[in-house]
Amino acid sequence: MTRGGSEAYNGLVEALREREYPMLKDQIYLDHAGTTLYAKSLVDRFASDMTSNLFGNPHSFSTSSQSTTSRIEDIRLRVLQFFNADPSEFDLVFVANATAGIKLVTEALRGAPAGFNYAYHQTCHTSLIGVREEARNSFCLDDVAMEHWLEHGALPGRVESTQVPVLFAYPAQSNMDGRRFPLEWSSQLRSRNPSSTGKVYTLLDASAYVATSPLDLGDSETAPDFTVLSFYKIFGFPDLGALIVRHQASSALKNRKYFGGGTVDMVVSVKEQWHALKKGLHESLEDGTLPIHNIIALDSSMDVHHRLFGTMNDVSSHTSFLSQRLHDKLSALQHGNGSFICVVYSRKPEYHVGTLGSGPVVAFNIQNDLGAWISLTEFEKLAVLKGFHVRTGGLCNPGGVAAALGLEPWEMKRNISSGFRCGTENDIMGGKPTGVIRASLGAMSTVSDVDRFVDFVNEFYRVEVILETTQLKDAIPPHNLEDLYVRDLMVYPIKSCGGYRIPKGMPWEVRPEGLAWDREWCLVHRGSGQALSQKRHPRMALLRPMINFTTGMLEISFRGVLAKQQPTSISVPLSADPTFFQNTVAAKRMASRVCGEEISAQTYTSATINDFFSNILGVSCALARFPPGGQGKRMRYAKAHLQQHQNVGNRIKHVNPWSFLEIVTPPDSDSETENRKILLSNESPILAINLSSLEVLNQAIVERGGKPVSPEVFRANVVIGASTWKPDSFAYSEDHWSRLKIGQQDFKMLGSCRRCHMVCIDQETAAKGEEPFITLTKTRRFEGKVFFGTHMCHTPSTDSRTREAQYPAIQVGDTVVVDAPS
Ligand SMILES: *Cc1c(COP(=O)(O)O)cnc(C)c1O
Repeated sequence: MTRGGSEAYNGLVEALREREYPMLKDQIYLDHAGTTLYAKSLVDRFASDMTSNLFGNPHSFSTSSQSTTSRIEDIRLRVLQFFNADPSEFDLVFVANATAGIKLVTEALRGAPAGFNYAYHQTCHTSLIGVREEARNSFCLDDVAMEHWLEHGALPGRVESTQVPVLFAYPAQSNMDGRRFPLEWSSQLRSRNPSSTGKVYTLLDASAYVATSPLDLGDSETAPDFTVLSFYKIFGFPDLGALIVRHQASSALKNRKYFGGGTVDMVVSVKEQWHALKKGLHESLEDGTLPIHNIIALDSSMDVHHRLFGTMNDVSSHTSFLSQRLHDKLSALQHGNGSFICVVYSRKPEYHVGTLGSGPVVAFNIQNDLGAWISLTEFEKLAVLKGFHVRTGGLCNPGGVAAALGLEPWEMKRNISSGFRCGTENDIMGGKPTGVIRASLGAMSTVSDVDRFVDFVNEFYRVEVILETTQLKDAIPPHNLEDLYVRDLMVYPIKSCGGYRIPKGMPWEVRPEGLAWDREWCLVHRGSGQALSQKRHPRMALLRPMINFTTGMLEISFRGVLAKQQPTSISVPLSADPTFFQNTVAAKRMASRVCGEEISAQTYTSATINDFFSNILGVSCALARFPPGGQGKRMRYAKAHLQQHQNVGNRIKHVNPWSFLEIVTPPDSDSETENRKILLSNESPILAINLSSLEVLNQAIVERGGKPVSPEVFRANVVIGASTWKPDSFAYSEDHWSRLKIGQQDFKMLGSCRRCHMVCIDQETAAKGEEPFITLTKTRRFEGKVFFGTHMCHTPSTDSRTREAQYPAIQVGDTVVVDAPS
């Protein structure tokens, strides 16, 4: 009788959650299919086991060694019993993870005299797909092909020789959508007459299944020959895997060629080459020193898991009960117009005894009320901000995702060749999503986790009202905006660090790449070369650069608290040839990456400079410079372009920035693709914001109970104010501007600026909040993307005789004229 699957059991889990999972704090963890969480009691118990026993390297005669050896053998038996596997019928090989178990089986079969053929089910994890590269022939089976094989004993393709064994692999449960597959397949295939295919070995990937369900290997006749799994998916810790081998199939593993460390009894290397392998199966497969401490931790894992959650049957009923709720509630969410918000790919989980059911995983995508897909990266940005942990994208399951989304091979190839990679921003291609959102549950999940997630989807993705066209107000034609002026000019000399406010009365040079000195430096991670970002390192906001033309230095001071006696400021020469000023400052070229794009920047070698930044940020980094005028990887191009919600240059009929419904035809963008150089800014030479828009945004934030945000969070270069107070008519008019004249200089608008949760970092304190991103998603979201501010670039004067053309500059207080006749 199981206790799981009831409100009472859920109450027990709620009760232990805070005590056992203090690391969760206020976050909602729904990525148990990635890894589940370890309990505090598990870590405590393991710590006490480690500190009260002396464990040596196994296989020698000291007592410390003997106690390790015997503990490992006890645990090996205990794990077999956990899966109800009789040690006279099965052996267990400890491996690093499920993938390592798969590789071990592959390595052995590859060593067989005639190699092997490989058949695998279409929903396999990528860990199983690579096996095909080692096989003579491989067959990817969908449901129809699978049925055919089971019925008629023939694979859908020619098998040249029946002397060659076949390895058949499939998941017990798909990690993508939780779909389960029958455990009986192994015995069904085994009982088939091998004359048409050769001997069939089955490899069951139980990684996803065992996380929340009991795996019963009680009947060795029907059990798979090889079963692989990872323990961190069941217990959260240790990071360890197992390969469980049916003795009857163990001869297939005897062909492995490699040996090393513990797997060999005697080796002769000098004069002759001979070795004697250990006799036992696991003894001959566990190369080198075992992960002793990880194996020992399994005792604590199994004890604590059982004490907290009961049997795996309890866990299974509880998680099915929760995923049923999640599935039902997500499937029921509707927009105001009656259309469904979620397209759910997972089957409905059933938890009645005897049915295969489906794992506690819900894979889905979100559509707006007009049926357009919501971008996964945009969904992630919001989810991250609200403390939800889910997985999005291809989930290492190309076959499963392709089947769910109806993606053909040519579409997947097209997506790859047009630049799509896991985790890139452009994740809707050809009108189809390229991945899914996956919420997965574990033993310590609760009803409240499920409900909070559903409420989140509903709050942010449900479109309530259908606005009548007649309700849409006509926007003020842009030409009326004559009293705009430059309120502030800012440059950010070091990418992602604090800004430098250009003093009043100081004309500032405008260059093709942007305002002079803007984003010319960055901090790069010393290992990966990746440019650091405030998103990961909010303290960067407190690094304040100052451009001092008197001393010719970029002076950087830190405005936060430093633990030790550390310098709080440092200077580097502005001169492009730093050696000219100071011998100790030398720079070398190094491949770095900015927003995923490979660049070649000059990296400073001075330990004083690099330590200054590394100590403050707590990450090993170096200062790098990317001066204007570079070629090849020493320069970058703008990526900004006009967005669909913008209707530039035309008189606008229906503009309602509050509405998600606005669909306008995109302007012809051919003229937009000309190459514009930028330095290290993300997308474009210059970013401008309109304070009237901020005013309207702040009103909305206050109405929702939040605090108004300062213009600094948007990290704009040009802050445009209005001398007459009419925010309602000026707000968001920048969406429709096509040109600006600031002082004597002309600028061309390059499209709205797409935002992420970096705008939630207070630039004064480096504290992270929810606003303004949350209100922006409610008021400024178009086709699932969130916008605020506008990109632009300078248009140099064609008349080079004037002073304005020779040294184009703008300054605080300059008038701003929108779309002036040129
Ligand atoms: C997690 C998982 C794997 C990979 O496990 P590793 O621990 O990364 O080796 C393979 N298959 C499925 C179904 C999984 O869920």
